[in-house]
Amino acid sequence: MCGENNFSVLEKVDKKPVGETDYGITQGDYYREICECHHCGVYFNRHDNLIPDDFYQGQYNDAIVQGNLERRYQKIIQFPYTKSDNKHRVLRIVDYLYKQDKAPAKMKVLDVGSGTGVFLHELNKFGFNVHCLDPDKASTNHALNTIGVEGAFTGSIEDYPIGQQFDLITFNKILEHVTNPIDILKYTQKLLAPGGILYVELPDGSIPKKENNLINRSEFFLDHYTTFNKKAFNYLIETAGFQINQLQQIVDPSGKYTVFGFASLINL
Ligand SMILES: [Zn+2]
Repeated sequence: MCGENNFSVLEKVDKKPVGETDYGITQGDYYREICECHHCGVYFNRHDNLIPDDFYQGQYNDAIVQGNLERRYQKIIQFPYTKSDNKHRVLRIVDYLYKQDKAPAKMKVLDVGSGTGVFLHELNKFGFNVHCLDPDKASTNHALNTIGVEGAFTGSIEDYPIGQQFDLITFNKILEHVTNPIDILKYTQKLLAPGGILYVELPDGSIPKKENNLINRSEFFLDHYTTFNKKAFNYLIETAGFQINQLQQIVDPSGKYTVFGFASLINL
């Protein structure tokens, strides 16, 4: 992530862990190393192109939901609060805004990498003015037609039309899937309204690392280029030009380890 070449190999993985999505890699070709950068602290998967470059333009959702975004969405939105990562996530955001005396109603939000859109559905309940972006057209169509968002853009954030500004921009478990998370956050600055808030959520590898249990934890699976901890999270957000106003490490209702933070632009 930082560009330094000073790391150690924590694990060598030579077959698909149980629980990891099957991406059709031939047995024998599967090989990756889980590494830790000594400079920025990030954990990363080191491998020889096991994931194709255009993977997220359709293949990712297809592989995970087998072309059935709609059915998956309808199932997940039924989860009760105690089991729903998304309901907890939205309540964290509303809680944060409320403590700053900001009302969610009509606040303009851009969710980057909206996927199944369960998060968008939960945002709608609080009256946010919801916009989203996803490289997969099936996902943005679904957001417009089923969820009823205000706007949905198909593509990457670098292609997002200049001119629109948002009060809140969210990245929920997205930046671990890209090779250039710092550049993406730097670009995000242009889309943030004055006083706007950035919310970032990432997989946290601290506890699996402490317990020496990396291989079978989804935080370190192949579709993640990177996995985070407090140090790496700080490095990412601050290098991209933001200041962190709140950072927390939690266990989600689904059992995933997560590090999340609220940030704002550094006032120069
Ligand atoms: Zn690094």
